[in-house]
Amino acid sequence: MSTNQHPIFYKNIAAVQSALRQKDVSCTHLVNNYLQQIDKTKHLNAYIEVFSEEAFAQAKIIDQKLAQNQKLGRLFGVVVSIKDNISYKGHALSAGSKILSGYKALFSATAIQRLLDEDAIIIGRTNCDEFGMGSSNENSFYGPVKNGFDESLIPGGSSGGAAVSVQTGTCLLALGTDTGGSVRQPAAFCGLYGFKPSYGRVSRHGLVAYGSSFDQLGIIAHCAEDIAILMQIIAGKDQYDATCIASAPPNYLAKTKRKKWKIAYFKEILDKEGLHPEIKAAYSLYLDDLAAKGHEVTAVSFEYLDYLIPTYYILTTAEASTNLSRYDGIRYGRRAKNTQNLEETYQKTRSEGFGLEVKRRILLGTYVLSAGYYDAYFAQAQKSRRIIQDKILDILAENDFILLPVTANFPRKLGTNSSPVEEYLSDIFTVLANLSGNPSISFPIHNNLEKKPISLQLLSLKELEHTLFQWSALSH
Ligand code: GLN
Repeated sequence: MSTNQHPIFYKNIAAVQSALRQKDVSCTHLVNNYLQQIDKTKHLNAYIEVFSEEAFAQAKIIDQKLAQNQKLGRLFGVVVSIKDNISYKGHALSAGSKILSGYKALFSATAIQRLLDEDAIIIGRTNCDEFGMGSSNENSFYGPVKNGFDESLIPGGSSGGAAVSVQTGTCLLALGTDTGGSVRQPAAFCGLYGFKPSYGRVSRHGLVAYGSSFDQLGIIAHCAEDIAILMQIIAGKDQYDATCIASAPPNYLAKTKRKKWKIAYFKEILDKEGLHPEIKAAYSLYLDDLAAKGHEVTAVSFEYLDYLIPTYYILTTAEASTNLSRYDGIRYGRRAKNTQNLEETYQKTRSEGFGLEVKRRILLGTYVLSAGYYDAYFAQAQKSRRIIQDKILDILAENDFILLPVTANFPRKLGTNSSPVEEYLSDIFTVLANLSGNPSISFPIHNNLEKKPISLQLLSLKELEHTLFQWSALSH
C-alpha cells in the first residue's frame, strides 16, 4: 500500500461512483486514502477497530469488476463505518463495553448483509457509549471520542465515533443506532446529516438491543441524498425481525415538484428555558425564512414537552434492564475469573464488566419494573407514551412536518458532565421521535452568526418518510 498519494475527498455517493467509473481514481487508491485519514485522526478515538486488509481486498475486487466491465452493486466504492453495536459476522462486537470483550459476531445484521450484497466496503467499527447509553461518547470502555471541529469538545453520542468517522473523511457514510437521538445528536454536533427511520422500517436483526421498542438503525452522511440511497437498500421487511413494518418501503429516491409544505412547530419550545439563546434565535429565524418562502408555518401547542424525558428514561431503562440480563458471563463475552459458584460468576462478571452508567440504568429499570412500583412508573409511562404518540399523529394529520431543534445546547467540553439528570435532560428534543416511532432527519443550518454547528430536525408520518428527503433536497 503506498502512502504518498494525495488525499481526495468525495462528499457523496454520486461523486465517488462517477470518479471510479471514469477512472479518475481506483477503488484501492480511494480505500488507501481513507485508511491514511484514519491514521491521521487516530487521536480522536473514533474507531475501536479498523478492517484495513479486508477493506483493501474488497477494493481490489471492485477494481477488477470495473476493469472487466462486470456488474457492480449499487454501493460499489461506498466506504462505510459501522457502530460497534451492529453485528458483522466473524468480527468482534463489544457495544463499547468491557463485558463483551472477546465476543465475535456469529452472523451479520440484516442491514450489513444488504450493504455487502451491493458491494459496499466496511472499513471499521466505531466507538460509542456503552450499549448506546449516553449523549457524549464518554461512557465507552474504549475511552471518549473527540470532536473533529475542536478536540476539547464532545462529539455527541452515543454514535460519537460514527459521526466523527464521517466528519473527518475516514469513510463516506456511517451506520449508527438511534434509541433516543444517538444518530441525530452526534450528527448535529459534527455538522452532518443524521437520519432515524420510522420504527420498524429497518430490521433490528443484529443490533445489540438497548430499548427494543425504541431502537432503530440510523445513518450519518454529508447529505440527505446519500441517506436516501442507503435507505432504498436497507429498508424493508425481514424474516428475523417481527416488528418490521409489513408494507413495502416508499421510493426514497422519488422526486417531487411540490414546493410548498405545511410545517408545524411547538410554540412551547420558543419559551423553553434551557434552550440556548443562539439556537433559539437560529430556529426562530429559520421558521421565519420558511414562511417568507411561502411554506405554511403553523404554531401548534404541545403540552407534553416536560413529560418526554421522564417517559423516555422510565421505559428505556426498564427495557434495558431486561435486555442486558443476558450478559451473565456464560453466554457472551467475558467471564469473571476465580469464582466459586454460578451466582458468584454472574455477580462478579456483571460488576466487573458493566460501566457506571449502564449499572445506573439497570438499577433504575429494575426499580421501575419492581412489583411495588410497576403501576406508579412503568405503567404510567406507557400511558404517557401513547398520549404523546396520539398527539403527534394529530399534528401530522394537519401538517406535513414537525420542525424541532436537535439539541438545546452546543457541544460541551469533554469531562464536564455535571450530573446524570442534566445529561438526560439534554435529550429532550430527540427522544420524541423514538417515543412516537416517527422518522426524523436532522440537518445542519448555517444561519447563525458564529457558525457553530446548529441543526434542526424534521419529523413526518411513517408512511411519508420519503418526503423528508424530498424536502431536504429542495431546501438545501
Ligand atoms: N442519549 C440517549 C440515552 O442515553 C439516547 C441514546 C441512544 O439513542 N442510543 O439513552
